Amino acid sequence: MLALASTLSLTLAFVLANASGGSLVSCLTNNGLRIEVSQNSTWHASTTPFNTRFHFSPSALVYPTQTSDVSKAIQCAVNFGVRVSPLSGGHSYSASGYGSQDGTLVISFRDMAHISYQSSEETVTIQPGARLGDVALELHDKYGRALAHGVCPYVGIGGHAAFGGWGFSSRNWGLLIDQVEAAELVLANGTVVHLSNTQNPDLFWAIRGAASSFGIVTEYTLKTHPVPLSVIRYSYTFSNPDLSADRFAKLLGSYQTWGRTAPKELGIEANVWQGGKVEIGGYYMGSLFDFNRLAGSLLRTTGLPNATYVQERSWLVALTEVNGGSPLSTKGKSDAHDTFFAKSLVVPTASPLTATALSALATYFANTKIPNTLSWFIQFELWGGGNSAISSLPSDATAYPHRAHLWTIQFYARSSTAWPTEGTVFVNGMVSSITDHMKGTTFGAYANYLDPLLKGWHDKYYAGNYPRLAALQKQVDPHGVFQKAQNIGAPDF
Ligand SMILES: Cc1cc2nc3c(=O)[nH]c(=O)nc-3n(C[C@H](O)[C@H](O)[C@H](O)COP(=O)(O)OP(=O)(O)OC[C@H]3O[C@@H](n4cnc5c(N)ncnc54)[C@H](O)[C@@H]3O)c2cc1C
Repeated sequence: MLALASTLSLTLAFVLANASGGSLVSCLTNNGLRIEVSQNSTWHASTTPFNTRFHFSPSALVYPTQTSDVSKAIQCAVNFGVRVSPLSGGHSYSASGYGSQDGTLVISFRDMAHISYQSSEETVTIQPGARLGDVALELHDKYGRALAHGVCPYVGIGGHAAFGGWGFSSRNWGLLIDQVEAAELVLANGTVVHLSNTQNPDLFWAIRGAASSFGIVTEYTLKTHPVPLSVIRYSYTFSNPDLSADRFAKLLGSYQTWGRTAPKELGIEANVWQGGKVEIGGYYMGSLFDFNRLAGSLLRTTGLPNATYVQERSWLVALTEVNGGSPLSTKGKSDAHDTFFAKSLVVPTASPLTATALSALATYFANTKIPNTLSWFIQFELWGGGNSAISSLPSDATAYPHRAHLWTIQFYARSSTAWPTEGTVFVNGMVSSITDHMKGTTFGAYANYLDPLLKGWHDKYYAGNYPRLAALQKQVDPHGVFQKAQNIGAPDF
């Protein structure tokens, strides 16, 4: 690895000072690369991120069609002292695919979204620009196979697999990163390397939780699973006006206690909607008979809901339903934009949420006045508990560290107008209403729910894995070609 690092012998600043003759754009075009620059009429649309709270102006966008294009683009960028960032589905919470700063060379995987299945190994090789909905459809329709991954069809494999990748089948099959068996990565000097447990195992470990700090992944090979014949879709709604802070704490508390022993076949989250309505739902990867028994034990602890939905569904219908009914295919359509701020708390199994913390949260959201342009929700996603596949790995098995953890909680507020400061204050307040009442607990955070304002992000995203990641990052990208906010090696605050 050190040998690779030393081939990049000049610092970016030094190269910038010496870049005489030619330009980055001419280097890219002379190498036959397809690019887009600010003079193009499509530039504004191409550089508007999913989360419109952010905007960065890249030096150019490059659209590779093969791995060697990525290498050439990186080499041009290095020659001109420009940093590089990969952009896959563009669904980062903070537009990090655009480099988190102006002037980055953005390598967009729009035209690298191929999916190929290897039947003898039951693996699928996916290029980073493929989006979750299209991956699910193609795997199902052509091969009768499936993967565990997140809910939104438009999220790109590139970013999702870079930091985790959770969905309702993850307690059964693992995070998306846990299904990765091999990857192809382009390093900061343009070299292409292959990664697996036996090839460059250090880098293979690092990309499963912190990929964007080490290079650009040009393909992932993942273990697939047979499509379940059917799954049980369910949702239980507990509505106002009964949800006092005390009732809320009891409801979430009993869901939490019950979740600690839930079988891995159950995908489950509790959504708390503005106004206090709580909906516990997801899908169960087993029989209706077994589900009914399981649900009976849940409802005995939570009390009866105001509304119940339980249906046996095909795999694709279940994936569509958990996404709110929008089609899985993203072909020929682009996603709507959103203006939002989100934070996450990853809760250790050994320190479950206390009744006082839950009650303080409910009191906070019930009593805090926010602009009427703002709306919010909280998701209590059960990642651990019982025999969950996510928790079956040790915390140093992959760069993603939070294995002995029960919940990932997401606090999300969106605005129908330009982002108001009160929105940030409100989301921070929801989080601190919990953490202020659990001072002895070390909470983590999930890097796919990226929060650029997160203090202590080294530890919160990566816990005990940070020092190993930082040492490796220095070796493979010593001049910071891929450096940006909250990539390994960037300062904490
Ligand atoms: C509406 C919505 C729903 C979501 N639902 C879920 C969910 O159910 N479960 C869940 O776990 N997460 C979910 N997420 C979070 C999502 O997983 C992350 O935002 C993810 O990083 C987005 O990936 P992307 O490729 O679309 O984004 P991008 O903006 O393209 O990339 C995000 C980050 O990954 C890096 N990256 C992209 N491609 C590569 C590559 N080829 N090599 C190395 N690094 C790369 C980028 O540089 C950037 O830092 C959701 C996000 C949204 C907006």
